[in-house]
Amino acid sequence: MTTPGRRSAPLVVIGSGPGGLAAAQSFREHDATSPGLLISADPDPPYARPPLTKDYLTGESERSELWLAEEKWFADHAVSLRLGTEVVALDRAARLIRLDDGTTQPYDRLVLATGSRAQPLPVPGGDDPELILVRDLASGERLRELAATPRRVVVIGSGFIGCEAAASLAVRGADVVLVTGEDVPHLSRLGADVGKRLAGWLRDAGVHRAGGGFRPEARQRRCPDRRVVADG
Ligand SMILES: Cc1cc2nc3c(=O)[nH]c(=O)nc-3n(C[C@H](O)[C@H](O)[C@H](O)COP(=O)(O)OP(=O)(O)OC[C@H]3O[C@@H](n4cnc5c(N)ncnc54)[C@H](O)[C@@H]3O)c2cc1C
Repeated sequence: MTTPGRRSAPLVVIGSGPGGLAAAQSFREHDATSPGLLISADPDPPYARPPLTKDYLTGESERSELWLAEEKWFADHAVSLRLGTEVVALDRAARLIRLDDGTTQPYDRLVLATGSRAQPLPVPGGDDPELILVRDLASGERLRELAATPRRVVVIGSGFIGCEAAASLAVRGADVVLVTGEDVPHLSRLGADVGKRLAGWLRDAGVHRAGGGFRPEARQRRCPDRRVVADG
């Protein structure tokens, strides 16, 4: 049953990342008047994630520089934002989506731009709320707050996000240990030569590396009261 009072929107986009925003913007370029609706589980309006482990973390840029579109754009272009709302079911036959507040939203066209999620650490204790799983603005802000006071931080994962977070935290004066199962970062993806160079840059930035994979008992023994940053 359709929620009373909710009109069908010609375009509904699920996801407020760059993909969802680009879909809404390009819809607007091709249809100047029909209303659009962008629904996202994220409570913040569309923002850039890359700075969260780079200049935003080092303190070289501010929250106001993260937005991918000005608030005014949405009002001027008849695209409504429904943030902090998760889509929990899709009924294509009825052209309806169901939202986590129990209401439904009809649509004519639907774009799924739901992106990806960071992988929680698959070990006992991996769901500890003290861990920061870096993916969204809220986690980026927690990380930045953490960086404001120099301390020891363990970064788990030597992919792009882990290496960037480690280097940026070291720039902020943290004592950073990067935990990785790889001999050098990005070994499998970029090869040994690039990996060695990245390892050198991280070393020069002051990042210590612990290799050989992540062992939860080692974490508990060595840093019982320190925060751990995980990426996915
Ligand atoms: C810290 C960090 C640094 C990065 N740095 C770089 C970089 O330097 N270069 C680069 O190219 N890429 C980088 N990336 C990756 C880049 O941010 C992603 O590729 C990009 O965000 C993908 O955009 P997207 O719109 O496809 O999905 P996402 O940005 O993941 O957005 C998906 C959206 O869908 C919403 N959503 C998902 N499920 C639901 C649901 N059921 N109901 C409602 N909403 C839902 C989410 O809340 C989210 O808003 C980085 C990512 C991170 C986290």
